Order: sequence, then structure tokens, then C-alpha cells
Amino acid sequence: MNRLAGIGMTSARTRDRLIRRLQEQGITNPAVLDRIRTVPRHIFVDEALASRAYEDTALPIGFSQTISQPYIVARMTEALLEGGKKVGKVLEVGTGCGYQTAVLAPFVKKIYSIERIAPLSKRATATLKELGVKNVMLKHGDGFQGWKSQKPFDGILVAAAPLAVPDALFAQLANKGRLIVPVGPEGAQQLLRFTRNGDKIEREILGKVAFVPMLGGTA
Ligand code: SAH
Repeated sequence: MNRLAGIGMTSARTRDRLIRRLQEQGITNPAVLDRIRTVPRHIFVDEALASRAYEDTALPIGFSQTISQPYIVARMTEALLEGGKKVGKVLEVGTGCGYQTAVLAPFVKKIYSIERIAPLSKRATATLKELGVKNVMLKHGDGFQGWKSQKPFDGILVAAAPLAVPDALFAQLANKGRLIVPVGPEGAQQLLRFTRNGDKIEREILGKVAFVPMLGGTA
């Protein structure tokens, strides 16, 4: 129990400081802010980094990957939920340590999350279980293919940056569904939101971001 609650640098007080910072940066959805306050980010990182878990920064999780910055997780979650309608099925590409998955879980019916690095997917499964997050299904695989057997998705959230949006993701997006994805080469990425309207797909630019690259195949 104590491990989840945290003490000192992982305490409620430290978390409140992070929430204030996110508000200053323009995150306004109170439910999202509350969820970030509640999810114990320190259990997603190595114990040696736990004291830095409530800084608004990406941190290493091994295999040259990082846990996403809290601001980015908040921004993407907000962008997916905007408008207040309950979201049904969501596809997440890039489970990583499962932090974004845990933040998003209570806002949607079910999350299908794909990670290309097997040990990360395995560890995320254990962490999400420890947290009691139940409406998720994790799989080791290549997100460029999407998750065909579960399509269509009301939301798709991509946590690694492709150079161009994979066709499979557009193909698996439900009508009125939203796809949030960082696109572009390192140093010049933009966070985009696509909304399907029948055969038309509307595109919005949400801002400049820095994600790890989306890579093909599995590891
Ligand atoms: N939201 C995650 C972010 C992890 S970083 C978190 O908070 O931990 C992005 C992740 O995307 C990495 O774990 C990386 O291995 C994964 N990734 C990159 N390309 C991928 C692909 N084609 N399919 C699935 N996962 C991919």
C-alpha cells in the first residue's frame, strides 16, 4: 500500500506541485488533472529514479525508451477526450511502461495497447495489474499494423513518432473517431489530431513535440 501512496519526493504534496505546473501550461480538464495526481508515476520507473517521478519530464525506462512527460500524457488524453463524450474502444501504440495507459483507462471503455519491445510489454502488464487497472489488453507487436481483429477504434493514441501516419491506423479509425499522433523526424515533430467524418478525415495541429521514433517490426 505504501509503495503506491508514496512518501517524501513521491508524496501527495510533490504531486500537487506537478498538477499546478500542468495547469500553468494550459491543461484545464479537471478529471485529467485529478487522474494524473492519483496515478503513482513512481512505480512505473526504476526505484533509483522514483524521486524524480513527479518532475514534468520524460525519464528512461530501459531499452532506449522513456516514460512520457506528464504534460504530454495530459495533453494527449485531453485531446482525445475533448467534447466530453465517453470514448469507447481505444488503440494505443507504444505501451512503454504503461503510464499513459493507466492515466487514460478510467475515461474509456477499453484500451488495446501494442508495444514492440517484449520485456516492456511484460513489465507494463505487471504494473497495471498491481494498480488494479482492468480494462486494458496488452500485446507485443508492431503498431504499424494496428490491431485489426479489434477494429474499429473510437480513439487511437500513438506514443512514438512515425514520419507519416501509417495507413492501417486511418483504416482502423471508427466514424467520428479521433487519432492523436506525433508525426515527423526528430527535432521537427508535430502533434496532430485527425477526426474521421465518413470518408473525410479532418486534420488539426496541436503543437510541437519530441517523441522517440516509431520503429517497424518487433524486438
Ligand atoms: N506512453 C508510454 C511512452 C513510451 S515511449 C509511457 O508512458 O511509457 C514510446 C514507446 O513506443 C516505446 O516503448 C517504443 O518501444 C514503442 N514503439 C515504437 N515503435 C513502435 C511500434 N511500431 N509499435 C509498437 N510500439 C512501438
